[in-house]
Amino acid sequence: MARSCPISTSFIIIIVLSHFTSSIGLRPWPDVLPNELQSLDIASRLRVDPDATRMASRDFGKLVHPPNPAAVLYPSSIEDIASLVKFSYNRSFPFSIAARGQGHSLRGQAMAPHGVVVEMRSLNNCSRGSGIRVTKNPISGSYADAGGEQLWIDVLQATLKHGLAPVSWTDYLYLTIGGTLSNAGISGQTFRHGPQISNVYEMDVLTGKGELVTCSKDTNSELFFAVLGGLGQFGIIIRARIALKPAPKRVKWIQMLYDDFSTFSRDQEHLISINGLDYLEGSLLMQNSSPNNWRSSFSPSEYPRISSLISKNGIIYCLEVVKYYDELTSHTVDEELQELLKGLNFLPGFVFTKDVSLVDFLNRVHSEELNLQAKGLWDVPHPWLNLFVPGSRISDFNSGVFRDILPKINQTTGTFLVYPVIRNKWDDRTSAVIPDEDIFYTVGLLHSSGADDWEPLENQNKEILQFCDKAGIKIKRYLSRYTTKEDWMNHFGPKWRTFEDRKAQFDPKLILSPGQQIFNSI
Ligand code: FAD
Repeated sequence: MARSCPISTSFIIIIVLSHFTSSIGLRPWPDVLPNELQSLDIASRLRVDPDATRMASRDFGKLVHPPNPAAVLYPSSIEDIASLVKFSYNRSFPFSIAARGQGHSLRGQAMAPHGVVVEMRSLNNCSRGSGIRVTKNPISGSYADAGGEQLWIDVLQATLKHGLAPVSWTDYLYLTIGGTLSNAGISGQTFRHGPQISNVYEMDVLTGKGELVTCSKDTNSELFFAVLGGLGQFGIIIRARIALKPAPKRVKWIQMLYDDFSTFSRDQEHLISINGLDYLEGSLLMQNSSPNNWRSSFSPSEYPRISSLISKNGIIYCLEVVKYYDELTSHTVDEELQELLKGLNFLPGFVFTKDVSLVDFLNRVHSEELNLQAKGLWDVPHPWLNLFVPGSRISDFNSGVFRDILPKINQTTGTFLVYPVIRNKWDDRTSAVIPDEDIFYTVGLLHSSGADDWEPLENQNKEILQFCDKAGIKIKRYLSRYTTKEDWMNHFGPKWRTFEDRKAQFDPKLILSPGQQIFNSI
């Protein structure tokens, strides 16, 4: 997928200015970067000015503030990135390089203190729509070839034009392909189709040696599995071939409320064990969370009834399911749903149904993002804690964390997710780490805080981790970043040796994604 573009006039002005100022010493060339870098073709697309480097050391979490990168590359082609990586690899003292997608990490994972950040989205400005190509093949399977810099929302829009869509999503679609495939990419479809990393056929990866390698389950499979869930450690995802299926047009979206956790989780586990639903998640409604948050979209007329239920119980559990349908199934979908939900034990009268388009459903978090942005509540610190909890201990987790630790702090405007997924939908050969049980729960404690009051929430997160440790609940953290090698080794457990060997093979000079702090300390 050779992509390149001429750069815009304003960009040229910035570059010329920054070049000029760097040569007259106002913005000196950073000491940590070799001078020879200035004579490469990519020099005009490298920025060393504070505006660029400050931007590249921000992320969605707003919790960590490591030193800025020395420079930011705005690539206009894949060759630009390859030439940067090769240049670093060939030095006796290589500098670190981090691909940055949307920078929606929580703790500096896409940063490169004193190194170079590659703004992957810059490729999109250059691809003029060629960053996503759809191939329709009903016999061997349709797919989209998408650049690592592409957003999932754009993949959705591009594939829908062909009546197709990916099957596995994240709750929020303004994330890049490279960013989510480096983690796992989970949502309510995971129980059925596995995470996004289970739905990739092939990738082009630029390794830490600067080699562009095409890989799949059958070809260069070690690299393929290393990169999926690989936290950016083994290569930069340049292109991913994503599995597509015929896209449904609409969804029936149902929310049911429970006042008892074991009934709630029993119903969740029952529903993921049978065929028929297309999506299943769950969330907590708590005294300090409004029924109207980005997860639960009840009609305003229902708020008083739901709020009084929450006041009475302290916590209410909301089970959320979806069934897709289209013209062919529109007359049978309600009946099928009734059959699927028969025998569930939600609170009588507390079931809410909506009928929306597929796009409105998949893109639901974006509407809330716009809301929060308008109120200045999006660009705030996010001390999130994401965990995978073994199914056998989820009830202990409920008592110790949801019922005991979480309610202690009143300040949060968070969303709390809890839903089960099935281990055998994950491929153990990938780098992703999950609990060793057939069913485990994904728990997302998605706090937002004010600019200055995130520390109590961080302390609460620590208390939760200590609780799990003491209670012997063998959680695995998701989207987390440890700061010591020992913690990373514990995290990977039996997979650590493979992870380390793959690093030695594909990024032996420890160049890539230093912000994860696995092989580099910051
Ligand atoms: P970045 O933050 O830019 O990068 C993340 C890591 O990937 C970094 O280490 C970076 O170096 C590396 N990287 C980036 N691009 C590439 C590339 N092309 N090749 C190799 N490595 C690369 N996650 C879920 O699984 N499910 C959800 O429902 C979900 N919802 C979210 C909702 C919101 C509002 C937010 C902020 C995050 C959510 N996430 C979710 C987490 C999200 O998937 C990760 O934080 C993801 O990494 C963000 O993508 P990004 O493009 O911003 O990546």
